[in-house]
Order: sequence, then structure tokens, then C-alpha cells
Amino acid sequence: MTTFQAPKGTYDLLPPDSATFLAVREALAAPLKNSGYGYVETPGFENVDLFARGVGESTDIVTKEMYAFETKGGDRLALRPEGTASVLRAALQANLQNEGNLPVKLWYSGSYYRYERPQKGRYRHFSQIGAEAIGAEDPVLDAELIILADQAYRSLGLRDFRILLNSLGDKECRPVYRAALQEFLRALDLDEDTRRRIEINPLRVLDDKRESVQKQLTGAPLLGDYLCDACKAYHEQVRELLAEAGVDYEDDPRLVRGLDYYTRTTFEFVHDGLGSQSAVGGGGRYDGLSEMIGGPSLPSVGWALGVDRTVLALEAEGVKLELPPATSVFAVPMGEQARRVLFGTVTALRRAGIAADFAFGGRGLKGAMKMANRSGARYAVIAGERDLDEGVVQLKNLESGEQSAVEVDAVVDRIARELGR
Ligand code: ATP
Ligand code: MG
Repeated sequence: MTTFQAPKGTYDLLPPDSATFLAVREALAAPLKNSGYGYVETPGFENVDLFARGVGESTDIVTKEMYAFETKGGDRLALRPEGTASVLRAALQANLQNEGNLPVKLWYSGSYYRYERPQKGRYRHFSQIGAEAIGAEDPVLDAELIILADQAYRSLGLRDFRILLNSLGDKECRPVYRAALQEFLRALDLDEDTRRRIEINPLRVLDDKRESVQKQLTGAPLLGDYLCDACKAYHEQVRELLAEAGVDYEDDPRLVRGLDYYTRTTFEFVHDGLGSQSAVGGGGRYDGLSEMIGGPSLPSVGWALGVDRTVLALEAEGVKLELPPATSVFAVPMGEQARRVLFGTVTALRRAGIAADFAFGGRGLKGAMKMANRSGARYAVIAGERDLDEGVVQLKNLESGEQSAVEVDAVVDRIARELGR
């Protein structure tokens, strides 16, 4: 019989590591929940054209990395490669922009799919926490999102990351820059594919990771020199707001990022311990996206943080999260009658909101105590026939080793008190 393996470029999350993963997800989302962002969940797949139009026909994501397929009913769908297009689609579909004050602030958490070349930190199935603030053009909003991401990473104990910041201009100044860049790029020695890219989306050539391309780009015109006054002023405000908040950033005039829809503020969080998969998160303003997918003009800004890479960044910095043990009380029954009684105690503990587990499968005392210790529980409740004859169970503090007899009916209250409930 063949045994099955997880598909290439994917991995399973299993205990105990999965607890860290969950804690990272929670930590990345916590600042958003605290800042007026509401939770949004969209399907794992969408009409393929949403991404083609929203992410950009010429991006790697759409041309190479998308899991696109046709359903039995003839619909052309794609597994979502990113979150922004879906979230904006959902907001537009529900008319959230007409319901109250703008911006509509949303956060999400989920799985994303890209057919990439798998390597450490680059998977075909990965996890993001994202935030979108839809329908407002205000540098405070751009700053807010960057500050919240910074806070999220710091709350986990990460320190060796940097924030790269740039402005991509708007529909006034970007075309002028685009033309200047195209002229520069056309004169370079580049392969067929890249030459095509010059004509479709020349900014993406700046993002080419190949050494042979990068070294020809030294003299390339920089967007910063072409920004119109409005974009310059906007960007200056974002920079000042970050500085006032004490958030360090680096101006990176070459930062462009992989998606077509970005305008003005663009940023990336990079971690220096991750080798070439160094981006732990990124985002920016996407003032034109709503119109690109058929909506009204809704200037917006957002980010997505990679959960997988954030976990790797913690490892790289040697940060171990302090996770509370999953179990507070472990029940160790000796004999059939004790199984009944202690299972009742465990159920009562759980109903009282106290995490409890049980030595299943009729183990001997030694094996069961080993399990109790391994569970991380503070207390073991142990009972044999003799205890039950006397109407008691043994409550053992697994840290100090102290043990005392407690009446069966009083044990839940006693444990609750000891745990400070
Ligand atoms: P990269 O330049 O590394 O390909 P990206 O620009 O494609 O990143 P985004 O689309 O901005 O990434 O996604 C936001 C974050 O999601 C990234 O910063 C990264 O942490 C994470 N991410 C993106 N693609 C993957 C992947 N294939 N595997 C794991 N994490 C990923
Ligand atoms: Mg990518």
C-alpha cells in the first residue's frame, strides 16, 4: 500500500508546534481587533477574473502562480493567491461603503495558494493575517496600519526586522515615471520575457531578484524623483507620522512589490534572519483597485503578514513564545470505579472552564503519571478504590509534589480556588 504524503510545497501543522502557529496568528491579529477592524471571511476560491483584473494580468501571481480550474458546472475559478481582491469584492458586493462612515476597516486570517517553487519560507499553501482600510485617503490611515504591524511583530518579541518604505505615485505622476523607466530599460541587455515585461509592467522589472538584472539597474530612474507635489506631500506626512510614533523605517526608493494595484504608500517588513525569503509582510495603498474590479472610486490601504515566515523569524531570533499549558488538571484513575468518578470530575472541571484531561485507555499508575507530567498540568487528580471507599481523591500539585486527600464533591471548587478562579 502506498502511504500518502502532503502535497509538494505544503506542510502539516501538528502539536506541539501548531500551538505556536496559533499564538502567532492571534498576536498578529490582536492590534487590529483593538483598532476598529472587523473580521471578514471570504471563500477560498473566487472567479479567476477577479484576480486577473485585481492582482494584475502581468504579475507572476496571475501568470505563473495561480491555481486556476474549471468546475464541473463550467465556472472558471481560482484558489485565492492573496486576500485584498477578495475582501474588496466582498465589501463592494455588500455595499459596505454606503453603510456608514468610511473607511471600512476589515481584518482577515486564512490560507492562500500559490504555485511557487517550494523552498524554506516559500510554500504553495501558506497563511496570512491581513488588514484592509477601504474608502479613505488619509496618511494617518497608512501610518496606522504600519504602526499596527510593527506593534504585532514586537508583541511577539521580534526585533531583527526592518520596515522598507516607498511611494509609488499616483495616476498623475506614475505614467511619466513609467515612460522614463521604459526608455531606460529598453536599452539594457535583457531576455525576451523581461523585455515583454518592460512593455506591460516596467516597475516589476525593478523587483527582479536576479543578479544579472539587478546590476544593470544601478542607474535606473527612481520614482521618488518623479513624484507629483500631492504624492510628495502625502508621503512626507506618512513618514512624519511614523517618526512621531517612534517607528523606525528605511526609505527604499526601489521597493515596488509584486502586485499591480499599489499606488502611493508601499511598504515591506523584512526580517534579516530569513535569507532570501526575507519578507515577513507587506502592503500599501491601492487607490485604483476598486475601479479595476468594477466598483466606485474607493482609495484604500492594507497589508498582509505571512504567518509561516513570522514563525520562521521567531526561530531565527531564538524567541520562544511562552504558551500556557493546554491542560491544568490531569486525572489519573486506578480501576473501573475510579474511571467513572474521575471522568465525572473532569467533565465538571471542563464545565467550570478549567482545562482538564484524562488518562485514557486504562494505563497503570506509572504510565498515567508520566502522561500527567508531560501534559504540563499543574495538578493531578488521582484515585483508586481505597480513596473512593473513603469518599476522597488525591490532589497532587505536580510542581511541588505535595499531595492531599480532598473529598470527591469538593475537588472542583478546591481546584478552582487554587487556580485563582
Ligand atoms: P515574496 O517577494 O517573498 O514572493 P510577495 O511580495 O509575493 O513575497 P505578498 O503577496 O506581499 O508577498 O504577501 C504578503 C506576505 O505573505 C509576504 O510578505 C510573505 O510573508 C507571505 N508570503 C507570500 N508568499 C508566500 C509563500 N509562497 N509562502 C509563504 N509565505 C508567503
Ligand atoms: Mg511572491
